[in-house]
Amino acid sequence: MRTRVIPQQVIARKRDGHTLSAQELEGLLKDYLDGHVGDDQMAAFLMAVYFKGLDERELDVLVEVMLHSGQVLERGGAGPPRVDKHSTGGVGDKVSLVLAPLAAELGLVVPMMSGRGLGHTGGTLDKLESIPGFRTRISLDRFDRILREVGCAMIGQTEEIAPLDRKLYALRDVTGTVPSLPLITASIMSKKLAESLDGLVLDVKVGEGAFLSRIEEARALARAMVGVGAARGLAVTAVLTAMDRPLGRTVGNALEVREAVDCLAGGGPGDFREVVTELAAEMALAGGVVPDLDEGCRRAAEVLAGGGALARFERLVAAQGGALALSEDGYGLPAAPATRVVAANRAGVVARIDPHALGYGVIPMGGGRTRQDQDIDPRVGFELKVRVGDRVSRGDPLAVVHGASRDDLFIGARVIHEAVTVADGPGTAPLPLVLERITA
Ligand code: URA
Repeated sequence: MRTRVIPQQVIARKRDGHTLSAQELEGLLKDYLDGHVGDDQMAAFLMAVYFKGLDERELDVLVEVMLHSGQVLERGGAGPPRVDKHSTGGVGDKVSLVLAPLAAELGLVVPMMSGRGLGHTGGTLDKLESIPGFRTRISLDRFDRILREVGCAMIGQTEEIAPLDRKLYALRDVTGTVPSLPLITASIMSKKLAESLDGLVLDVKVGEGAFLSRIEEARALARAMVGVGAARGLAVTAVLTAMDRPLGRTVGNALEVREAVDCLAGGGPGDFREVVTELAAEMALAGGVVPDLDEGCRRAAEVLAGGGALARFERLVAAQGGALALSEDGYGLPAAPATRVVAANRAGVVARIDPHALGYGVIPMGGGRTRQDQDIDPRVGFELKVRVGDRVSRGDPLAVVHGASRDDLFIGARVIHEAVTVADGPGTAPLPLVLERITA
């Protein structure tokens, strides 16, 4: 029988900057999973890790315990290459919704395990669940069947796979303990290693809308995750992409699904399409279905333009219980009962759009959580009408706020005025969309 740890002792040792033994760390994590350590104690531990970090050996223990807290998916026999992509989290980041069906259309199998909203960033699961009827909690048998029939399937952490990440993820979301290199690394890599992949592409976000905003931090995070993969025989490519402004024009769950469907139909904002195309090319290269990235980008653009990825997305949605009405204006997605156009109160140039302010801005409107057990309102959010560098006159629309109430519209308008800076001249030049590529 395993001896239980004394949680407050382990917490205090990490708080004081000590390196934990494998027994201490493993014991605390397993006791938490069993319910013998409470959320209060784990939140204190996570905060200690946030401040004091984990060394390489501690990170290794964390990854292993998280990975083996549940099952590792069966790889099955030969078949198309299994490749997934995961993002470190960004504002307006709806890339996965397009990428899973697009990569499947390129000849890959994509067993995608995603998360809910985290901190100021939205989550793929919450976005998917804004599609009426869509179920992200399905049995592993059904997940497998959908993978075989559709080529992609999208679920969350479950009691069966990555259950420890499921618990820690929800707790980190509401305790200010997300932006930690070892915690992000272990959260992402434990889920991805459980998928039994042939290749993994990581979208490491850089900028104020990301969890680690400086490029050096993002690089260190990318290297840590690539290293964890390499040590376990998984080839990982990390692509650093810009998050100094929101991606695309929408922030908020149903609004982002609508934008993703626009992209799947061959439209959508150019920045979003560019990131999707680059990452699809990386996935195709990782799976060996294209000879180089140029060919991957060409094929991805061709598939988007041809509508094949949209048709596959429809099949995925139907297989997971959802229904879209693609011939209708809003695709049958839930819409907020109230909207308000927020106008510029001066003329000038849009010098900055602060993704952090927008990401946190949807939470008080009900679009994100402040407690673990909270339901969210998928309808609320922001639709930007300007991009950085645009010239505006006084009275020009900056954004449309979608809210459930008049209070929401008031809150949302304040957020837009705080997030969108109109100045006499351009501000700092935006980062290039794709910054760097890191492999083992
Ligand atoms: N995505 C995850 O799955 N985990 C994190 O910690 C951050 C982004």
